[in-house]
Amino acid sequence: HTNRTFTIHTPTKYARKEYIGNAANHGEMATVFAKLMIDGKDHGVNAFIVPIRNRDKQPVNGVVIEDCGHKMGLNGVDNGIIYFDKVVIPYENMLDRFAQVNEAGEFETPIPSDNRRFFTMLGTLVGGRIGIPRSALAAGKTGLAIAIKYGDKRRQFGPEGASEVPILNYRMHQQRLMPYLANAYALHFSLQYLTKRFVNRKEDEMQEIEALAAGMKAYTTWNTRDALQECREACGGKGYLSENRIDDLKNDTEIYTTFEGDNTVLMQLVAKNRLGEFRKEFGEMNVSSIFNYVLEQAKTAVTEKNPFATRNTDEAHLKSREFHLNAFKYREKEIVTSAARRFKRLVDDGLDAFDAANVLHPHMMQIADSYLDRVILEQFQAQLDVVQDEGLKEVLERLYHLFALNKISEHKEYYLEQGYMEGSKTKAIRKLVSQLCWEIRQDAVPLVDAFNIPESCLAPIVTNKKGEA
Ligand SMILES: Cc1cc2nc3c(=O)[nH]c(=O)nc-3n(C[C@H](O)[C@H](O)[C@H](O)COP(=O)(O)OP(=O)(O)OC[C@H]3O[C@@H](n4cnc5c(N)ncnc54)[C@H](O)[C@@H]3O)c2cc1C
Repeated sequence: HTNRTFTIHTPTKYARKEYIGNAANHGEMATVFAKLMIDGKDHGVNAFIVPIRNRDKQPVNGVVIEDCGHKMGLNGVDNGIIYFDKVVIPYENMLDRFAQVNEAGEFETPIPSDNRRFFTMLGTLVGGRIGIPRSALAAGKTGLAIAIKYGDKRRQFGPEGASEVPILNYRMHQQRLMPYLANAYALHFSLQYLTKRFVNRKEDEMQEIEALAAGMKAYTTWNTRDALQECREACGGKGYLSENRIDDLKNDTEIYTTFEGDNTVLMQLVAKNRLGEFRKEFGEMNVSSIFNYVLEQAKTAVTEKNPFATRNTDEAHLKSREFHLNAFKYREKEIVTSAARRFKRLVDDGLDAFDAANVLHPHMMQIADSYLDRVILEQFQAQLDVVQDEGLKEVLERLYHLFALNKISEHKEYYLEQGYMEGSKTKAIRKLVSQLCWEIRQDAVPLVDAFNIPESCLAPIVTNKKGEA
């Protein structure tokens, strides 16, 4: 206080920060999140701007920087490790939107809880958690554009005496790629929705938006990881050639599942938010809303779980938006309710809250996954409503049906266990998924052209710049 300075210090070797982007060679300034201690009192984590390098690129006195080393991808970014040894910075370098040190050297903040203040500051990271899935989706779309265009050109085998057929005509090839094409469209719409919500955010929506961003980050980056692997294999040996780009796309985006928050940990954050919302809903329930809740449950049992519904294999029913939304909502609600019940039982039986949450970890992944599935489905449905062009609507509807039915099919064990569907229905859905993949194949090339990816970002196997496929 006397000198109006802060001293930034890494107290032990393991308090260092690893993996800082641009730290190893180039960064000159860092935003450092550090515990603020004034006269021995801990005021929680605050943010400070700290010079780490001079203009001549040498670390400043007291700053030690190490290179993280060669990575699987993203080697254009120089990730580094930073330690501080009593680095003195001026008072003005504290980022003081949420907390300040006043003229008398006292700590002041409009958010008294250290924890809440920390999470408010971390809210800044939400922008990154929207950028990462958007970037992952772009990589996934690029991989799909390469694999689908290649599949349309590359011919292998065919009927006796006739010419060979494009590999995209093979049903199995379609079933490997078309669901990812449907996912790409679904994620495109829901990431647009998330971005709009974030741009127009109000303070009281932030918790929900943060949870949605965390979930969409995990959901999209996992989808890209899996889609690119499938795209690589779908291009056969050509897919393995670096010039055909899936190499770099895979290596650079694989880490998206870890940075800006590890996906598994982010899914827990989403699940905690959903459980919190559930608790709030129940906490605020009076006798009449509890009665309505029970009535709602009973109605679901009668309308959706009666033998006619669970065995209904009529195509119009299987393609109805109402059926999809009901099925997605059923899974979401049932999973969150049973997790809350399990948690309460474990705690009532004497388990500590941390251990009880640990027992529930796999269940929590399902809470987050089913919530995200429902949000994405709703956004796809909303998009269908705004499309005017009838031809376009028809094609988008096919993609939508594939997205919805493929998701239901992925969770068929769940629906069978719950008695929500019978085997005849899940079998009919499987057949319809195959049929939709076949139908979408006809429009697959224009559907990836619509991503409008510049030719320079595609691959020689599809742009014909180098040799024939
Ligand atoms: C290329 C790259 C660039 C990066 N850039 C930056 C940067 O610019 N700035 C920055 O601050 N950071 C950066 N990071 C750090 C990144 O954010 C972390 O690596 C990430 O948050 C994961 O933390 P961790 O590495 O400590 O993994 P850990 O926390 O050790 O996780 C290891 C494994 O344990 C699992 N796990 C951990 N906790 C739990 C739990 N509670 N429940 C269940 N499973 C759990 C995880 O799912 C994961 O699979 C970068 C990392 C990389 C690889």
